[in-house]
Amino acid sequence: MAVAMLLLVYEDIVCSYDKLDTTLFFGELWLDGSVKGVNGLLPCVIDALHHGYTHFFVPMENMHELEYIPDIVVYPINHFSQIVSFFFGKEILYPVTQPKNIEDLYQEAQKLLVNFDQIKGHCVAKRALAIAAAGCHNVLMIGAPGSGKTLLSKALQSILPPLWFEEILEVSQIYSVVGKLRKDLPLITKRPFRQVHHTASKISIVGGWSKLTPGEISLSHKWILFFDELAEFPREVLEVLRQPLEDKVITISRVAGTIQYPANFMFVAAMNPCKCGYYKDREKQCTCSLMDVKKYQSKISGPLLDRIDMTLEIPREKIDLILDSHKGESSESIGERVIAAWRIQQKRFAGTDITANAHMTSKDLDEFVPLNDACKSFLLQATQRLTLSPRVVHRIIKLARTIADIQWVDQVSIQELAEAMQYRNKNFFVEEM
Ligand SMILES: [Zn+2]
Repeated sequence: MAVAMLLLVYEDIVCSYDKLDTTLFFGELWLDGSVKGVNGLLPCVIDALHHGYTHFFVPMENMHELEYIPDIVVYPINHFSQIVSFFFGKEILYPVTQPKNIEDLYQEAQKLLVNFDQIKGHCVAKRALAIAAAGCHNVLMIGAPGSGKTLLSKALQSILPPLWFEEILEVSQIYSVVGKLRKDLPLITKRPFRQVHHTASKISIVGGWSKLTPGEISLSHKWILFFDELAEFPREVLEVLRQPLEDKVITISRVAGTIQYPANFMFVAAMNPCKCGYYKDREKQCTCSLMDVKKYQSKISGPLLDRIDMTLEIPREKIDLILDSHKGESSESIGERVIAAWRIQQKRFAGTDITANAHMTSKDLDEFVPLNDACKSFLLQATQRLTLSPRVVHRIIKLARTIADIQWVDQVSIQELAEAMQYRNKNFFVEEM
C-alpha cells in the first residue's frame, strides 16, 4: 500500500489533494487491487494523531476500530481503484467524521458479566474479593471442585470501575495488535478478564511469536489475569509471572527484535488443594497420600506465593443455602464501594506512578500507611509468632490499607491488620511452602 501511494505521489496524481500532509493510508494491498485489513491499526492511528495526522484512508475491514475515535476523518476503502478514482475526481468518497457514542459500548459490555447476586453464600469470599478489587491485590482461591472458585473469579470483573477513555484506548491498542477488536465491540470498554487454561503455551501467555505479538499477560493489562487450576500449570509458566508481577511490564526478546508491552494486571488464581480435590474437605474423604498432596502443591513456588496477597479458602456451600431463593448483594452495590476506594487511592497517590495500594513499594509505606505504636507492636508479635518474612509483612500492611479504604477509615488500626492476616490462609498447605 505504501509503495502504491508513493507511485501516485511520484506521478503527481495526488498533488492537488490539499490534506496530503496530514493524511495516512493503511491496508494490505493485494495483487487484484483489493485492500485488506491489518492488525494494529488503532495504535498506528493514535500515534499518528499525536504527530498531527488527522485524515486516514483505512481498509473497510478495520473501520470498526476507529468508529469511536474523535477528531479524525476516516475514508473506509476496500479497493485501491477507489483511491485512484478519488484523486482523479471521478469518485466521491464520503468520509466518516462523527464518532459514535461510547456510552452504547459500555452498556453492551456490561450485559455479559457474571453478577455477584447470582452466587449463593460465600460471604467471606465476596468481602475478600471486593477488597482485592479495591486495592488490586493478587488472590489465590483454594477449595474442592465445584465450590464456586471459578464463578467467584468471573464475578470479580463486574465490580471493577469502568475503564476511563484514555485507558480504553490504551487497552484497545493491545487488542488491535493481535486483531482481537470485534466488529460488535470495537473498543475494550470493560476491564479485561483473561482466563488462561493450563494447556496454554508459554509463548501465548508471555507473547512473542514471529511478529512479537502481545500475550495473555498484556491482554489482561488494566485488570485481571485468571489462572484456573493453578497447580496444573507447568512450573516454567508460573515462574514467568514473577517479573511482570513486580515490574508491570513484559519485555519480549526474539530474533525479530525486542519489544516491551504493558502488563499491569491483578493476578487471580484458583486451585484444588490436591489431585483428587478433597484434601481437608469437611464432607468427602481425600484419596491422596500426604506425599502426593505435597507434590501437587509444590508446583506453586514460595516466591510466587509471596506475591499473592490473599489466599482464600472457598468451602462448598451447604445445600440449604444454595436452594435459598434470596439474592445476595449485587455487583452494582459492591462495585460502588470499590469505586469509592479507588477514588481515595487516586487522591492519595496523585502525582506518583502508583495506581493502587498493592503497587506501593516498601519505601512508600512509611509515607502512605503510617502505623501507630500499637499497630507496630501487634505486627512485631505476629511476625515472631508466625515467622513472617518482611515481604509478607509489607503485603499485610498494604492489604490493611485497602481494608481501611473500603470502609472509609483514615487510619489503619490493629483491626484492619488482623483482618488482612486472616486472608493469608495456609490451612490447605501441607507445610510452609
Ligand atoms: Zn486428595
